[in-house]
Amino acid sequence: MVRIVVILMTVKLEEYIRERAFGLGFGAVGFAEVSPSRSTEAFREWLANKYCAGMHYLERHAALRSDPRNLAPQARSMIVVGARYPFEQTGCAISNFARGADYHPVLKEKLAQLAGSIAGKCGAENIGPICVDSDPLPEREWAVRAGIGWIGRQGSVVSPEMGCCFFLGELLLNIKVEHSPEITNQCGDCDLCLKACPTGVIMPENQLDARRCVSYLTIEHRGEINPEISAAFGNTVFGCDRCTSVCPWNRRGNAPIMPEFNIATGAVFSLEKLSALDNIGFKKQFQKTPVERMSFERFSRNVGIAIRNTKK
Ligand code: SF4
Ligand code: SF4
Repeated sequence: MVRIVVILMTVKLEEYIRERAFGLGFGAVGFAEVSPSRSTEAFREWLANKYCAGMHYLERHAALRSDPRNLAPQARSMIVVGARYPFEQTGCAISNFARGADYHPVLKEKLAQLAGSIAGKCGAENIGPICVDSDPLPEREWAVRAGIGWIGRQGSVVSPEMGCCFFLGELLLNIKVEHSPEITNQCGDCDLCLKACPTGVIMPENQLDARRCVSYLTIEHRGEINPEISAAFGNTVFGCDRCTSVCPWNRRGNAPIMPEFNIATGAVFSLEKLSALDNIGFKKQFQKTPVERMSFERFSRNVGIAIRNTKK
């Protein structure tokens, strides 16, 4: 009898959290039991192969990433949420994910609201910390463990509700909740993302060599870019949507796009307009978007490459 009551209370709490998260605009919510990461060895191998390119912070964070309890020693469960952004393939120079608000503060604020709204049920002392993207947590693994989706061939998490164009966020809990069932990989014999990659960096086992990835090179890489590689960038100035926007699961899911990221672009980001921006215009145009994190020098380098590519 006692056991039945405990289970009913647990289910109620999960449903309560889900309802609150969906109310904040998240497209998927799942729960995972906290334990050591399963991907530590594969991640170390990836680093040893130098596939992380210049993202040396990943090497520095490697030990921390191996267990969420390195961030929160009392953590027992993790809430993982997904926030969907537009997926249409438009050939725009600025990637789909970067046209709306910067997702870091948006997701952190929404997860803080979620934490506040469930504090009465969980106990405020049992909630936190919040993690989004840059925190030392293997987010994709935790999304899989929380039943959000599976890791697709291109290395992104694919969700039946959201496809593969969404941001992830996590909220750690010091209490145990029932974890969500994991979803079987449903890529089947599809290889659209592999075929869409202009530099052929997607390898077996969902591994990706960032040294030739357009997204990494345009967003994070400092300095010059090998012209043999940048010739494949097309009109790209920031990011690369090719391997995610072709995924058929984008069109199967019904989850709403989070309003903060649902920005109409039209001609605003045409190469012609981007090339006319000076430093002040760049800062004004991209304030509070992910592009703002890039220096004007890097932006100008990328615009120059895109112009050269489109004149060929
Ligand atoms: S982001 Fe672009 S370059 Fe990188 S793996 Fe995907 S398609 Fe290839
Ligand atoms: S495009 Fe195809 S292979 Fe690639 S992640 Fe989507 S379903 Fe999987």
